[in-house]
Amino acid sequence: MKKILLIATGGTIASTKTDGGLAPALSPQQLLRHVPDAQAFCQVDAQQPMNLDSTNISPQHWLELAAIIEKNYSAYDGFVVCHGTDTLAYSAAALSYLIQGTRKPIVLTGAQRPIDREDTDARQNLLDSLRFASAGDSGVCIVFGGHVIAGTRARKTRTKSYNAFSSINFPDLAEVRDQRIVRFIPWAGGSGPRFTHKLNTRVMLLKLIPGLPPGAFSAAGDLCDGLIIESYGVGGIPDAYLGQLERLVALGKTIVLATQVPQEGSDLSIYQVGHRVKERYQLLEPYDMTLESTVTKLMWVLGQTTQPEEVRRLFYTPINYDLLF
Ligand code: ASP
Repeated sequence: MKKILLIATGGTIASTKTDGGLAPALSPQQLLRHVPDAQAFCQVDAQQPMNLDSTNISPQHWLELAAIIEKNYSAYDGFVVCHGTDTLAYSAAALSYLIQGTRKPIVLTGAQRPIDREDTDARQNLLDSLRFASAGDSGVCIVFGGHVIAGTRARKTRTKSYNAFSSINFPDLAEVRDQRIVRFIPWAGGSGPRFTHKLNTRVMLLKLIPGLPPGAFSAAGDLCDGLIIESYGVGGIPDAYLGQLERLVALGKTIVLATQVPQEGSDLSIYQVGHRVKERYQLLEPYDMTLESTVTKLMWVLGQTTQPEEVRRLFYTPINYDLLF
């Protein structure tokens, strides 16, 4: 019988109706009452460090979750984190960087409907997650709607359907079908858990729109140590911002030039608008990394070092399937 630690953090899965709309209210014990079949293959202990709509989850909560897992790592075979779906992809990516090399499954899940609703997806997602967490060898991942997605590859792509998460620029790791796990990607192995305890949250994301005032560009840059620019297509900087960019680079900011196109990633070498800035300012680019991973990886990297060469090395080191290029 596998021992699993359930960490309940809130979200729709644990929500009930209030006059002001759905809000998290259920305890982990109440959640577990809806999945009695899990008793056949695992014994579950539970903690509830927070009970939040995931709109309110912040980097401090990621550090708290990682600390709970670190403290309990040797006592359990796997971990299931119940989480709101809205920022679940960010939390999964953040935990992928904070806890590296794990062989014990760390599964994040949630639901589009509260667990006590008849038409809910929550019971299936929770049961699938407990099953996957009990199956051994895996890293940080999301189990949702039958899909098992690497923690660095998930994005919430639907606001209402049960099929809420997609794996971006990478296949699903596995599926949970009925009571069976079908793996598509062989387990890459884990060298044992390495926990880190620091993030630099002075990271900003600026989405370009045609006509964005140059002042917005420099204001965003001034507020952070790492600026991710969501540019267009394979990536480029409009002429109007070159002066601002030069100023931010001279101030020592780490600049990542990303794309707002959801699939296939960046390649700054292709067009002059990208090539000229990458060469000249030593910008980083995410290639096929998701935006959620780019944001949380940059927080993790800048939490470890401020040396530009080391920032570059860590940013381009593949972690938990986040980067193929
Ligand atoms: N607003 C909710 C949350 O992210 C949505 C959900 O859980 O599906 O907490």
